[in-house]
Amino acid sequence: MLSRDAALAAIRERLGPAGATDDPEIIAPRLREWRGRFQGRTPLWVRPASTAELAAVLAICHDARIPVVPQGGNTGLCGGAVPDDSGRQLLLGLERLDRVLAVDPEGGSITVEAGCVLATVQAAANEAGRLFGLSLASEGSAQIGGCVSTNAGGTNVLRYGTAREQVLGLEVVLADGRVLDLLRSLRKDTAGYDLKQWFIGAEGTLGIITRVCARLYPLPRQLQTALVALPDPTAALALLGRLRQQLGNALSAFELMPRHGLELVLDYRAGARDPLAEPYPWYVLMETESSGDMTGGDALTQPLADAMATGLVADAVVAGTLAQARELWALRDELSAAQKHAGPSIKHDVAVPLSAMAGFIDEATALAVRLVPGCRVLAFGHVGDGNVHFNVGCPPEMEGQAFLARWAEVAEAIHDLVVAHGGTPSAEHGIGQLKVHELARLRGGLELELMRGLKQLLDPRGILNPGKLFGS
Ligand SMILES: Cc1cc2nc3c(=O)[nH]c(=O)nc-3n(C[C@H](O)[C@H](O)[C@H](O)COP(=O)(O)OP(=O)(O)OC[C@H]3O[C@@H](n4cnc5c(N)ncnc54)[C@H](O)[C@@H]3O)c2cc1C
Repeated sequence: MLSRDAALAAIRERLGPAGATDDPEIIAPRLREWRGRFQGRTPLWVRPASTAELAAVLAICHDARIPVVPQGGNTGLCGGAVPDDSGRQLLLGLERLDRVLAVDPEGGSITVEAGCVLATVQAAANEAGRLFGLSLASEGSAQIGGCVSTNAGGTNVLRYGTAREQVLGLEVVLADGRVLDLLRSLRKDTAGYDLKQWFIGAEGTLGIITRVCARLYPLPRQLQTALVALPDPTAALALLGRLRQQLGNALSAFELMPRHGLELVLDYRAGARDPLAEPYPWYVLMETESSGDMTGGDALTQPLADAMATGLVADAVVAGTLAQARELWALRDELSAAQKHAGPSIKHDVAVPLSAMAGFIDEATALAVRLVPGCRVLAFGHVGDGNVHFNVGCPPEMEGQAFLARWAEVAEAIHDLVVAHGGTPSAEHGIGQLKVHELARLRGGLELELMRGLKQLLDPRGILNPGKLFGS
């Protein structure tokens, strides 16, 4: 077995100065999670430039039992991509694995290295006249490997599904440095277990994803974007049901936001304007896409006019130009940043069955106010997928640290309510460090036992992202 120092020296020698550094100034920004809640230390930041280099690093770490934390764009919101504060965990950056390897428009697939930023994958698909279906507000930094590892969702799940649905094949480096080649572009394959599924959503605890083959779709010919005002989430869910019936899967986004959320963005974003003449309690930002000639470009106007006539919708604005559509989307996309700017909040990324959504938002709001009088609830998100970001904001008169000290208590109460409604405490951000306790508490028994068994099979020395998902 290699000593730790000898192993680190061997890694430095294998990767050269471009691939490994211990310079604290260079590393510092990578050691802090996006929201600043988790901060770690590392002896070395390594950035292999090929699968072979990455495999060599893992083989050395496996031998010397050095823990490894993979990091993509570091936009994850659960502390999964930052090391702990022991100073023993190697930080493995994927950003130099950033090549687009092949685009096959006829076959409907794209093959890229895992460190490709999502926006790069979208642009490469677009250049070939195709669409890559995953879209998140963080797409300028988040990498496809990170998105697959968290099974990211985003704003287009309604039409295209989560990251899991995009993946056709993967290349993965196992804990001991062996390369598992599952990089196929097949739509159908019933030859035994579908091993690639193990690594999707595994948050780097079972292997390091180095290449991804993903689905491409026809480019939409027409897009239409609208912001509608509604009295409450019940009306939003009723509208969703109507529109799905009328538009089928042309409806690609359906994002709920309360007035309070819109106001945060209007305060935060320079030049942002309230898109409607009067304030309303709730809004939905929606979009339709159509790729063939069958559906017209003006899919939303009539259904929204009908919904207004029945009183379901209070007011609506349909974007007339691409610039207007972008401005409406900015109101939604800037919400996380605006909320971060506005002060601390206790966050819950949860999903419940659609039929339970409106009741859940009401009950959870009442519960939060009971637990933390004066708190400001911000419930927003991809409600078309049953996913809501239920965030409890610090009361104005309360000290931020004292408020955040109540995170576990508030989260447990909200998650218990989620489970009572048949939901999950993690809809799209994953478990990371943030929800380790909740995974153990709410997914105990046989389910957790099997997850641990898989971990033991693939990473018997426990070097891959320790402390994430299961805790140490
Ligand atoms: C403004 C903003 C908006 C967001 N909106 C959404 C949204 O709408 N939907 C959504 O799902 N998420 C959203 N996120 C969260 C985040 O962008 C996603 O979780 C994204 O998938 C993380 O990608 P990343 O490359 O930044 O991964 P990182 O944060 O670097 O890593 C995430 C996890 O994956 C592991 N990992 C990273 N790369 C690899 C790899 N190659 N192999 C194995 N493990 C790896 C890490 O160890 C970590 O556990 C948002 C974040 C921000 C900041």
